[in-house]
Amino acid sequence: VIEIRDLHKSYGSLEVLKGVSVTADKGHVVSLIGSSGSGKSTLLRCCNLLEDSQQGEILFNGEPIRWKGSGHDRRPGDARQVLRVRTNLSMVFQQFNLWAHMSILENVMEAPVTVLRQDRDAVEARARGLLDKVGIGDKCDVYPAQLSGGQQQRAAIARALCMEPQALLFDEPTSALDPELEQEVVRVIKDLAAEGRTMMIVTHDMRMAADMSSHVIFLHQGRIEEEGPPDALFGAPKSARLQQFLSHSA
Ligand code: ATP
Ligand code: MG
Repeated sequence: VIEIRDLHKSYGSLEVLKGVSVTADKGHVVSLIGSSGSGKSTLLRCCNLLEDSQQGEILFNGEPIRWKGSGHDRRPGDARQVLRVRTNLSMVFQQFNLWAHMSILENVMEAPVTVLRQDRDAVEARARGLLDKVGIGDKCDVYPAQLSGGQQQRAAIARALCMEPQALLFDEPTSALDPELEQEVVRVIKDLAAEGRTMMIVTHDMRMAADMSSHVIFLHQGRIEEEGPPDALFGAPKSARLQQFLSHSA
């Protein structure tokens, strides 16, 4: 679904990604781990074109993103393609970013109705089903402030799913939550993995990464230091930096 080849990204003179390649095939779960500042969020944001990058290719379903300009002036050149990528790669953030003035149901329905211009009744039925699925079907009519953090994040996941995206991108979806609330959200994400959803997940939760990933990538200072299946990466890490990172996050 998503393929990134040799991506370079700088903020001014600070090079944050120094040639990173990642592929998330259909039905695969790719986890990104690494210490703070290693470039995990930046990489995820580059995938759905929330960030520009200066060099390297991004392919969506095998179709290369078309750029205009080069270097620091490089931008996606085709607005329709950008919209197609964004609507098909739904992002879930650490801070759930629900709209405070809309009910939970309205939050989940908003983008399919306004961006995809889908039929309101059909979207509502789907939204209610998704809220049931994440365990908050009884919260349709309340406002975000009336929910716990774990419930808000599950609403945010339902909102992402309601776009019927080809892949979900999670940026530390559980790190703003207390441990008990974290587990409710982890359970929902694990269910999605078991359903064969394509996902890329930035996480500090090594157990979640070990349990549900097809592939784990350890980023260090903007480069892939080590990658592989979770058994190998967590069970027999080769790089000293990864060994050190894992010993701190145990
Ligand atoms: P964390 O685990 O803390 O979320 P991360 O691995 O997600 O870290 P990024 O957010 O990708 O790291 O940031 C990578 C580097 O890019 C950091 O040095 C950060 O300071 C820098 N950076 C991120 N966003 C910006 C920005 N908008 N402008 C300038 N520098 C930025
Ligand atoms: Mg981050």
